[in-house]
Amino acid sequence: MKWYELSERATLEMTKTEKDTGLTEQDVAARQKEHGLNELDEGEKQSALLLFLEQFKDFMVLVLLAATLISGLLGEYIDAIAIIAIVIINGCLGFYQERRAEKSLHALKELSAPQVMAMRGGEWTKVTSKELVLGDIVKFTSGDRIGADLRIIEAKSLEIEESALTGESLPVAKTTIALKGDDIPLGDQENMAFMGTLVTRGSGIGVVVGTGMNTAMGQIANLLQSAETMITPLQRKLEQLGKILIVVALLLTLLVVVVGVIQGHDLYTMFLAGVSLAVAAIPEGLPAIVTVALSLGVQRMIKQRSIVRKLPAVETLGCASVICSDKTGTMTQNKMTVTHLWAGGTTWTVSGTGYEPKGEFYMEDKKVQPANIKPLQQLLLFGLLCNQTQLIRKEDEYVIDGDPTEAALLVAAMKSGLDDTSAKTQFKLVQEFPFDSTRKMMSVVVEDSYNRRYIITKGAPDVLLLNSKEILWGNKKQALTGTATTEVKSAIDGLASQALRTIAIAFRELAPNEQVRNEQDAERNLTLLGLQGMIDPPRPEVKQAVKECNQAGIKTVMITGDHVITAKAIASQLGILKPGGKVLDGSSLSKMTTEELEEVVDDVYVYARVSPEHKLKIVKALQARGHIVAMTGDGVNDAPAIKAADIGIAMGITGTDVAKEASSLVLLDDNFATIKSAIKEGRNIYENIRKFIRYLLASNVGEILVMLFAMLLALPLPLVPIQILWVNLVTDGLPAMALGLDQPEENVMKRKPRHPKEGVFARGLGWKVISRGFLIGVVTLAAFMIVYDDTPANLEYAQTIAFATLVMAQLIHVFDCRSEKSIFDRNPFENLYLVGAVISSILLMLVVIYYPPLQPIFHTMSIAPREWLIILGLASVPTFLLAGSLLTRKKS
Ligand code: ATP
Repeated sequence: MKWYELSERATLEMTKTEKDTGLTEQDVAARQKEHGLNELDEGEKQSALLLFLEQFKDFMVLVLLAATLISGLLGEYIDAIAIIAIVIINGCLGFYQERRAEKSLHALKELSAPQVMAMRGGEWTKVTSKELVLGDIVKFTSGDRIGADLRIIEAKSLEIEESALTGESLPVAKTTIALKGDDIPLGDQENMAFMGTLVTRGSGIGVVVGTGMNTAMGQIANLLQSAETMITPLQRKLEQLGKILIVVALLLTLLVVVVGVIQGHDLYTMFLAGVSLAVAAIPEGLPAIVTVALSLGVQRMIKQRSIVRKLPAVETLGCASVICSDKTGTMTQNKMTVTHLWAGGTTWTVSGTGYEPKGEFYMEDKKVQPANIKPLQQLLLFGLLCNQTQLIRKEDEYVIDGDPTEAALLVAAMKSGLDDTSAKTQFKLVQEFPFDSTRKMMSVVVEDSYNRRYIITKGAPDVLLLNSKEILWGNKKQALTGTATTEVKSAIDGLASQALRTIAIAFRELAPNEQVRNEQDAERNLTLLGLQGMIDPPRPEVKQAVKECNQAGIKTVMITGDHVITAKAIASQLGILKPGGKVLDGSSLSKMTTEELEEVVDDVYVYARVSPEHKLKIVKALQARGHIVAMTGDGVNDAPAIKAADIGIAMGITGTDVAKEASSLVLLDDNFATIKSAIKEGRNIYENIRKFIRYLLASNVGEILVMLFAMLLALPLPLVPIQILWVNLVTDGLPAMALGLDQPEENVMKRKPRHPKEGVFARGLGWKVISRGFLIGVVTLAAFMIVYDDTPANLEYAQTIAFATLVMAQLIHVFDCRSEKSIFDRNPFENLYLVGAVISSILLMLVVIYYPPLQPIFHTMSIAPREWLIILGLASVPTFLLAGSLLTRKKS
C-alpha cells in the first residue's frame, strides 16, 4: 500500500477513522484482535526447562552428582538419594531466583516502554505504543519517538530524524501533501512518519497506517533492538572474585582430602566429603543473589517513584558526589501563576492562585479594570495569542494541555475578561515557530479581520531585548535606547529578584507582502510590549532533600534556563546557594574553555540562562575534577549530557522519549527529592550486597577450616557430606537472601559517597570475613572435640554437636553482618525477613536432629539439653568476642 499517494481524506477513509474523534475503544479492541499488538517479534526466549537444567551445569555439582551415583551403586542409597534431593532443591532455588530476576527486569522494561498520545473516543489519551492499531490518530512533538508507521495529516515545523531506518542522520522536513511516484524511497516519503524514528523539531498529527511487523521497521529484521542486558561493575568484580574463590576453595578442599588420606581416612569417604565441601564452599549462588538483591532494590525504587533503566546505575548512584538538577518542575512545582505585569513604566499585580481564571488586577493596591488600560490589555491579549496551551475545565478543576508557562499567560488574560476562542477567531493563526530552550523564544504570525498580519514573539526578556528596536511606552513607540533600556532592565531585575519567572512579549506588524520563512525572519526588529512575571513555588520537600544530600557529601547544583536573578533567589530559598558560592550564566559559560570551567566548577552552585548544550560542558568539567555526576534533563538537546553523566536522569512526566532513552534513571514524578531517595536506596543496595557477601564468605571459610583443622589434628570428619550440603542450602541460603532485603543503617546518608574504584573487601570487610570465618571453624571443632571421646559409637553424636554449633554460629553471625560497626548498633528485630529466615533455619535444623526418620539420612542423633549450653556458648564466640573488642576500642 502506497499511503504517501493518498490524500488525507482517502487515508482516513481507508483506515476507517475520523480525525476529530479517532477510534472508539471497541474499534481498538476489534482491530487489536485482528492484527495483534503493535510489537516487533522478539527472538526466541530461553525455555524454562533449559534455564532449570543450567542450574546443574556447574562443574563441581556434576562431580558431586557423579560421586553420588557411585555411592548409590556401592549401596549407600540413603546418602545418594538425600544428596541428589538437596542438589535438586538447590537447583530449584537458583532457578526461582533467576526467574524472579528476569521477570522483574522484564517488568522494568514494560514500565519504561514508550507512550504516545492517541485520539480515543474524541479525547487525547496516553497509551503505550504497543496498543496502537491501524486508524489510530496520534499526535507527537519534538523529542518523541514515533510509535507506528503514520501518514502525517498535520505538521507544524515538523522535522524527523530517520537514521535508524535510512542511515541518513540529517532530519527530514515533513509535510502533509500527497506525493506522486511509483517507488519513492523511505527517505523521500515526506508525508510519512515511521516507527522508531525521532521527532527532532516541531509537532504533528498522523494516522496509523502500519503496526508491528507491518511497519518499515518491522521489515528490516536485523535492526531489531535487542534488550540490553548489562552487568554492573560489582557483578563484574564478583565474577572475577568468584573465579579466584573457586580455585582457593578447590585447593583447600584438595588439601583437606590429601591430609585426610595421609592421616589414614579412606579415600572414598574423603573424596565424597571433599566434593561436598567444594560444592558448599564455592559461592556459586553469589551472582544470582546479587541480581536478586539488585532487582529487589530496583522494585523498592519504583515504589519511591524512580525507574532504573540500566542496572549498573544502581551501584553508581551510591557513588554520586554531585547532582546537577533542572530547576523548573524538578525543584519547583511548575505550576505557574502570573502575579506581576509591567508595561511602559507601570507595574500591576494580579490576584488568584493556580490555573483557575479568577482574580483581580491592582495598581499599587487600587483595583483596576484591565479592559480600560490599553497597554495592559494588549500585553495580556498577545500573551494569549502567542500560546499553544489550552485550559480545560474538568469537573471543579482546571487542568492544562500544554506548557505551564503558557498556561499562566492564558489564565492571566482570562482573568481580565479575555476569551481564548473569540480572541483566536478575531486573530487567525497563520504561522507558528515553536519554543525551544536554545532560542528561548516562540513566535506566531496572526492575521486580523482587516488582513493585517502581526508577528507576536514571547520569550526570555534579556533575549527579546536584543531582538527589539522599539518599545511601546504608553500609546507611543519609542526607540529602545538609553533610559528606556535601563528602565526595562531594572524592571526585569526587579521581577526576577522576587524569584519570579519573567516572560517578555513583543510584536511587529508585517508589511503586506512580507514573507516569513523562518524564525530568524520573524524574531527581529520587534517592538517590546511589556513583561509578565510568574511565581513557580518550590516543591516543599526539596529543601530538606538538598540538606540531606549535603549531609551525605553530595553537592546540589541548579541548572536552569531561567534568569540569573530568579535562579539565585530560588537557589537561596532552597539552601543550594552557599555563602560565597558562585552563580554562572550561560554567556560567561560559552566564553570559557573547558579548562577554565574546571578551575571554578567546584565553587559554582547555580548555572542560569544556560542552553541544554552547556550541560555537557558542565558534566565534563565536573568529571575532570573527579566527580561522579548525576544530571537531569527532559528535552532532545539534553540527551548528550544525560548520556555523558555517570547517572543520567530523565523526567518521567515531561521528559521526551529521547531523554528517557539516554538516561539510566527515570523520575516518575519529576521530583528532585526522588533523586535523593534513589541515591539512598542505591547506597543501601550496595551495602546489603556487602552484607551477604560477608556472611556467605565467612560461613564458607568456617566450613572449610573446621574440616581442615580436623584433618591436621588427625581427627575423624567433624561433619558428614550431607550435613555440609544441608548447611550450604539452608543456613547459607535463606539468611543471605534476607540480608539482601535489609533496611539501611541510620547513617547511610551521613557518610561520604563511596569511591567508585572501591574494592569488594574495602573498609575492613576482608578482615571481618577471615576473622569471623576462622572463629566459626575453631568453635565448631572445639564443640566436636569436647564431646568426642575417641569411640566410634560416639562419633555420630559429636558430629551432630559440631553440625548444630556450625549452624548456630552462622545464624548468630548473620546479625553481626547487618552493621559495619557492631552488632550492638542495630535492633535485630528490624529486619523481620531475617528473623523469619533464622527461625526457619533453626526449626529445620531441629527437625533434622530430632525427627527420628530423618536421623539416619542426616547421620544425626538427638542432642541432650545440657549440651545446648556448650553449643550456644561456643556459637556466640565468633560474633561477640570481636564485637566486644571493637566496642572496647570504640569506648577507649
Ligand atoms: P529549567 O532548565 O530549570 O527547566 P527553564 O524551564 O526556565 O529552566 P527553559 O524552558 O529553557 O528553562 O526556558 C528558558 C527561558 O525561556 C525561560 O526563563 C523563559 O523566559 C523562556 N520561556 C520558557 N518557556 C517559554 C515559552 N513557552 N515561550 C516563550 N518563552 C519561554
